Amino acid sequence: MTSAEPPVLRGTSLGVRAGMASHVGRVRDHNEDQVAAEGMVFAVADGMGGHAAGEVASRIAVDTLRELVVRAAEGPDDVIRALAEANRRILATQQETPAYRGMGTTVAGITVVDAGGSEHWLVFNIGDSRVYRLADDRMTLLTRDHSEVRELVDAGVINAVEAARHPLRHVITRALGSDPAPVPDIWVLPPSPGERFVICSDGLSGEIDDDEIMRLAGTDPDPQAVAERLVAAAVEAGGGDNVSVVVVSVSASAGDTSAGAATRGDSRR
Ligand code: MG
Repeated sequence: MTSAEPPVLRGTSLGVRAGMASHVGRVRDHNEDQVAAEGMVFAVADGMGGHAAGEVASRIAVDTLRELVVRAAEGPDDVIRALAEANRRILATQQETPAYRGMGTTVAGITVVDAGGSEHWLVFNIGDSRVYRLADDRMTLLTRDHSEVRELVDAGVINAVEAARHPLRHVITRALGSDPAPVPDIWVLPPSPGERFVICSDGLSGEIDDDEIMRLAGTDPDPQAVAERLVAAAVEAGGGDNVSVVVVSVSASAGDTSAGAATRGDSRR
């Protein structure tokens, strides 16, 4: 279930370790989430569509992003182009195969780009998968859900507690696999020693609250252990959806690449 791989840190001097885990949950009969932690590309995609089409869409999304590992994104435009390419490929696959019509996927994650001559994190999001950042014992939700309930909360129609139980909580307003192509949200931020990112599908954030995610995110120095612990907690809490987590830890001393071994694990069943 867990295997260590040599580091692939092309084009970066950041010392980063990552772990990942994914689980079908207790209700769904197959897992349409995909996770990626390769090179400096870290992402979660949560596919949707019948007849396993969601899995096809989420796979296309992460496979397209993985091409950034080889090419190494130079700037935000490279990531935006990769997301547009993923959308194009999903639409093309829909047209080729009628059973895949209507499939789509969320995608959220982080990668490294050059901004103003130095390495920065680029955070990207389409849909309701999420990126959290944990630093100095504080956790911040970096992304903003593209969902019906988020819009209702923003409009003051419902509050956050009502949103968590709202019947429309799974309805997203942006997804890859749309025409016209969805506009991704992106944020660029400088790396900071000791910070940690949690990238997850809504099977995590819909099952356990942010306080619990934060508590579990800080329980172990090993990002793989944390990814598995978060996924296990969501399954334990009900596992109503597929649940996927990628945890990325930046080493405490800047430029320390000795801790760069990317640990990969996938507890998919
Ligand atoms: Mg989901």
